[in-house]
Amino acid sequence: MLTLGIESSCDDTAAAVLQDDCRLLSSVLTSQDSIHTRFGGVVPELASRNHLESIVPVVNEALARAEVNLKDIDLLAVTQGPGLIGSLLVGFSYAKALSYVSKIPCVGVDHMAGHILSVFLEEDKPEFPFIALIVSGGTSSIYRADSYTSFTLLGRTRDDAAGEAFDKVAKLLGFPYPGGPIISREAQSGTPDAIKFPRSWLEKDSLDFSFSGLKTAVLNHCNNEGQKKNPLQIADICASFQEAVVDILVEKTMLAATQQNIHTVVLGGGVSSNPRLRRHMEKRCQDEGNRLYVPRPAYCTDNGAMIAIAGVHQHRQNSHFSYDSDVYCRSLLA
Ligand code: ATP
Ligand code: FE
Repeated sequence: MLTLGIESSCDDTAAAVLQDDCRLLSSVLTSQDSIHTRFGGVVPELASRNHLESIVPVVNEALARAEVNLKDIDLLAVTQGPGLIGSLLVGFSYAKALSYVSKIPCVGVDHMAGHILSVFLEEDKPEFPFIALIVSGGTSSIYRADSYTSFTLLGRTRDDAAGEAFDKVAKLLGFPYPGGPIISREAQSGTPDAIKFPRSWLEKDSLDFSFSGLKTAVLNHCNNEGQKKNPLQIADICASFQEAVVDILVEKTMLAATQQNIHTVVLGGGVSSNPRLRRHMEKRCQDEGNRLYVPRPAYCTDNGAMIAIAGVHQHRQNSHFSYDSDVYCRSLLA
């Protein structure tokens, strides 16, 4: 069985061809980073216009690299939400039209299910149930996954997502969008405990996150240093900020595992490509007797392959798809 996965929820147009459950034949992506970088963030109108230009070449390239034709495809899996409505509409309308004219069945996939399942693209696959920490530019959530189609939300951010906090701190330090990878690079030459930034743990036993106070603390630190005419120690700020985010993400994930009595932990989403988060999570999982599964960085960030995997399993559950269905901006996995 061949599945064509299509993803256009934010600023990357992506497509992939998957054979059966998890054999990836191709994965193609065009990033719009160079378009949005000068605006300091994603401009929705520009994103959807660029998806329109990219969607056909990206899908054709995915088919070509997999050495298959459209008529060989058995299933179309497309991101239905959450994301930017204008961006989602491009991929979703394209997939619906393609499904209608080519008579290939289609499934609408929740982007978060894709992130939770992206680890199954790797050789080493977790067993259910597991705890999934999904951290990206739009989300910071902890899920319990009981099967390929059954996810329970245990905690989520009450304000900024972790990636959003990385991007906003990067912007105030003068770095271009997306700033997460730049902060993690700068942090390598800094000292993680150089500056004591606050950790917001919220109520006892809460699995929710809050990162807006941390972002303000970085801004206040920069303003205070500016008033004292001290040069900003950029590497130390990056390392200390990153450490605060990583501490919270790791400890809340360990707490979720303990609360649910589950010993398998999975990471997903763009921020999980952060090396410090991966190392620290690995160490804490070892301490707690948990097993950690992390996709390679290319599968952590948005891609078409994760949408294909989620789509295959949804299709097996006989999920209903209607040509009348629409995109949505908030995850249904809540
Ligand atoms: P979603 O709709 O799932 O929120 P997204 O558009 O945020 O998707 P992803 O590719 O899942 O896309 O994640 C991108 C985010 O990950 C950005 O905020 C980026 O700064 C952050 N990121 C990427 N690499 C790193 C890194 N090494 N360290 C920290 N953050 C990172
Ligand atoms: Fe994403």
